[in-house]
Amino acid sequence: MKLILRGHHLLCLKGFQGYGYDEDFVENMTRINALRKSENTTVQLTDSPDDICKACPNLKGNICENTAQNSNIISMDREVLKNIDSKKEHDALELFEKIDSTFNSKESVSKICSNCSWHDKCLFYQNL
Ligand code: SF4
Repeated sequence: MKLILRGHHLLCLKGFQGYGYDEDFVENMTRINALRKSENTTVQLTDSPDDICKACPNLKGNICENTAQNSNIISMDREVLKNIDSKKEHDALELFEKIDSTFNSKESVSKICSNCSWHDKCLFYQNL
């Protein structure tokens, strides 16, 4: 199974504990979170709408909410992707091990997570 994931969603998946924008979003995110923990799953990285966005009520056309928000989101993606080869397809388990070792302090995610409204629901951020 191949997943398409935008850069900052690698961190969101690490912190996911069942919350989201609506029921369809949570159901889709739960399925993807299980797949990314499974053997034989691969991940193609992107800085555009992905397998999580496609069930999100905030996606309008190919834009997240509005142009300003969309460009913030793309900056967050690119900040994560600076650390990973986004041209190749990754084994999901190895990719998330790399995420664990690269983003391991509040400083390491300051340009990505600092303005996120999900801090109080995000296990990943809370455990840094
Ligand atoms: S559309 Fe925006 S808010 Fe929705 S999952 Fe994608 S990046 Fe997140």
